[in-house]
This record gives sequence, structure tokens and C-alpha cells, in this order.
Amino acid sequence: MSARGRANLQFASLGSGSRGSATVVRCNGTCVLVDCGFSLRELRRRLARLGLRLADLDAVLVTHEHGDHLRGVSALARTGIPVWMTVGTAQAAASTWPDSVPLQHFCSHSPFVIGDLEIQPYPVPHDAREPCQFVLGNGTHRLGLLTDCGSSTPYIEAHLDGCHALLLECNHDETLLASSDYPPPLRRRIGGRLGHLSNRQAAALLAALDTRRLQHVVAAHLSEKNNCSQRVRTALAAALACDPIWIEVATQDGGLPWRELL
Ligand SMILES: [Zn+2]
Ligand SMILES: [Zn+2]
Repeated sequence: MSARGRANLQFASLGSGSRGSATVVRCNGTCVLVDCGFSLRELRRRLARLGLRLADLDAVLVTHEHGDHLRGVSALARTGIPVWMTVGTAQAAASTWPDSVPLQHFCSHSPFVIGDLEIQPYPVPHDAREPCQFVLGNGTHRLGLLTDCGSSTPYIEAHLDGCHALLLECNHDETLLASSDYPPPLRRRIGGRLGHLSNRQAAALLAALDTRRLQHVVAAHLSEKNNCSQRVRTALAAALACDPIWIEVATQDGGLPWRELL
């Protein structure tokens, strides 16, 4: 670990949900964006809330090709910011991708470094070409990101075990989804093995992890129709045996302000 690596890891959400997702993680002078489901104009507006400008971004990492994660990426790439994604995601996104813009590829099992951030990708079950999620660290602390995942696996648990912060998908309440007015195929897709984590699944995952070092748990990618923050907090707090107020929620419009790992 370098001396610079001792600076604190910070993260924030610019917004989380099916209308657009983006997360920022920084350490020292390195700042990366994970996904960009917002237009460039909207991204600038949301970055400004956090005291950031486009020029502060060193890279954008893309988890998968669904629009709520990819929508703003090609415009962002045209500004010269390096874009990282798996070969599978690049192939699936090729039709929206400008030929003139080069991509950086990573293997979804192999760690890589951008400035002061260590990035460990890991594959997840989701209905995309080569979807992955990330654990980001600075040599001292680790932040685990997990959204857009239909079911947990021992491999996912191994990566998220012992993290200092987690941003964890709590997409839907299973009862609300079952009684929603969504067409049955959509309900099956969301609740299926390649869909999205429910509150119950997220809580079960949390209960299976070593959470002794956890400083922040942020629920993310909540359905605006089939979930609510109260149900999320109740489910995750039961898994951690903590006060529900301790569970944080990244919202679609407001995101989550900066959090810092100490
Ligand atoms: Zn999504
Ligand atoms: Zn997705």
C-alpha cells in the first residue's frame, strides 16, 4: 500500500433505480463513476450536487448494457473520459457505441487499478450479456457494490464478505411484486434468477456475510412501484440486528450524499 493509499475511501450515489443509476467512488485525486444512466446534462447537474465536475472523473466503469446503467455512457466517452467494460457488455452495447471512441476492457474475474483505486470485478446472474459488479478498495477499506442481480451465489458472498461498506440492491418487496399490476412475464423476469434482488434476498445475503467491519449499508435500485424504504429498512435491519434508521437508502432522484470510510 502506498502512502497515498491511506487516504479515505468515499462514495456517493447520483441516483439509483430503473430510471437511471450512477455511483461515484473516490480516493485521493482518483474519482471513478460506476455506470451512467443519465444524460450528460443531468449527470453534470447531479455531479454538481456533490461538488464535482465532469473533469474530475478519471474513468467510468460499466456493469452491463441495460439503459438505466448505459444511457449516458457514449456521450460521456465523447468527452474523452476512459470507459471500462467487459467484452460481452461492449458487444451487447455496440449498436449505441461510436466507432471512434476506444474502450478499455477488463475481465470480470481479474482485478485492475485506476489511480489510487483497486477494482475487483465479479460476475453476477442477470439477464445481460456479461454483467458484473465491483468491489472497490484503497488498500485499507473495501466498498462492495451489488445491484442488478437475480440471485446471490457463493462467489458473490466471497467477494462481499468483510467489506467496510455495501451498496446493495433491494429492488422489490416480494408481496408487493406478486400483487402488482405488472404483466406476469415482467413479474417473472424481475423475480427470476436473472432479474433483481428482493428485500428478502438482500437480507439473506447480508445475514450470510461477515459484517463486523460494516460502516455503511446502502439499499439501492429500489422499485418505485413495488417497494418502499420502510420495508427495506425493516428487512435489512432484521438481518443485521440493528436499528432500521441505520440502514441508508439511495433514491432515484436524490441518490445518496458522500459517505466516507474511516
Ligand atoms: Zn438496473
Ligand atoms: Zn440490469
